[in-house]
Amino acid sequence: MRSHLLNDTTAESYRRSVTEGVERVARKLATTRSPFTGVTPADLTPVVDAVDLDRPLGDASAALDELESVYLRDAVYFHHPRYLGHLNCPVVIPAVLGEAVLSAVNSSLDTWDQSAGGTLIERKLIDWTAGRIGLGPLADGVFTSGGTQSNLQALLLAREEAGTTDLTKLRIFSSECSHFSVQKSARLLGLGRDAVVSVPVDRTKRMQSVVLAAELEACRAEGLIPMAIVATAGTTDFGSIDPLPEIAALAAEYGAWMHVDAAYGCGLLASPTRRHLLDGIERADSVTVDYHKSFFQPVSSSAVLVRDGATLRHATYHADYLNPLPQALGSARAGGTPSTLAEQIPNQVDKSLQTTRRFDALKLWMTLRVMGADGVGELFDEVCDLAREGFELLAADPRYDVVVEPQLSTLVYRYVPEAATSPAEIDRANLHARKALFASGEAVVAGTKVDGRQYLKFTLLNPETTPADIAAVLDLIAGHAEQYLGETLVHAAS
Ligand SMILES: *Cc1c(COP(=O)(O)O)cnc(C)c1O
Repeated sequence: MRSHLLNDTTAESYRRSVTEGVERVARKLATTRSPFTGVTPADLTPVVDAVDLDRPLGDASAALDELESVYLRDAVYFHHPRYLGHLNCPVVIPAVLGEAVLSAVNSSLDTWDQSAGGTLIERKLIDWTAGRIGLGPLADGVFTSGGTQSNLQALLLAREEAGTTDLTKLRIFSSECSHFSVQKSARLLGLGRDAVVSVPVDRTKRMQSVVLAAELEACRAEGLIPMAIVATAGTTDFGSIDPLPEIAALAAEYGAWMHVDAAYGCGLLASPTRRHLLDGIERADSVTVDYHKSFFQPVSSSAVLVRDGATLRHATYHADYLNPLPQALGSARAGGTPSTLAEQIPNQVDKSLQTTRRFDALKLWMTLRVMGADGVGELFDEVCDLAREGFELLAADPRYDVVVEPQLSTLVYRYVPEAATSPAEIDRANLHARKALFASGEAVVAGTKVDGRQYLKFTLLNPETTPADIAAVLDLIAGHAEQYLGETLVHAAS
């Protein structure tokens, strides 16, 4: 079995095995005609169940053959131009190359003695991102597993900086369109059930800063503590960007930590034409970025950035076996003053909620070294332009009602029949259309609710998608919805 270990004697077997896998995926990518096959859990469960994990196949070719039927044949393919579902992007080749390198070398980014140059590469990308945001000379941060973890860590720092041990007094303000990980974080951080104050949005789905101001005033009047304001730069459903300068001013006035959740909108940091949409982000205390959403990186690749690197100490714990105290003191970057201690070891675990941690930063590194930031930003610009064209299509189409003009690359809309139909029936027609489309595999779209009603959603992150694709998918949806309404009419009449 030693022949399966990756080392000096098996380098040739590694090359053959990985090349074979890459060949198959390449063939798959070249021949996939739709984003999905429409396979159901009932179809696929017995196929996966039939695999006996205690009877190995022995060689990679056989395992790859089997993988075809249990996974590759029916996977959901994000690179396909008619995948318009969730916030998943097609990935850029330099990043996939980085992924192959990082898992073969298998560095762990918790300590210098498990990564060496990997630690410096991650730090340089953190500095690069903080520089693009404009967080100033003391900024720091760390790569995380995703936006959920980044938001949790940012709110942990905010809680520790709030200066009270009475957790029942702490309040977090975020818009009604903010990500549910804000609520989840509040629970994990031991705050009360009513800790998150949901601030209403305006017609463009941006937080109403006038209401935020009133809520902050009420919080103060009740003797409660405004722990944090979470501004969303790119809401998951609408891509709307909260008014960052107004929120920054209120955060300063009320002494609240300002966190910007730019999990989706972070792609604007590289955009050659739209960076101004993030104006005000430079005043944040912390920022979440998901490179795996708008930087075209494979899952996972995310980071949390902070204005004052010293606040990351709230995530610091010491273990004698890993990052013992004297060594950690030597690595402290607090205040930006380099320590004079001889043993100045940069251990990223001191800044992270994780211990063993993937070298995800390498993917972004390879991307920037091959394509440059403009290259990535132009891709994101293309999908934002596409969303604008899609909006015009929807706005001009009497079959559809579209909610809001896009700031980024999502469109929320619903099919509305010509003949008068009950709102509940329209909801069902839209739900049916989404399900039927998914079952056909011809395209994948998402769904959401607006004011309690069922809507559909395109998340456009593929520059290969064209306005013609959008028009074709709208025709497919209308067809499914009309068929549903026709059938229910027949049903009602008989
Ligand atoms: C996707 C998203 C998150 C969560 O990020 P994950 O990487 O899925 O954990 C948080 N906030 C916003 C605004 C998001 O769109």
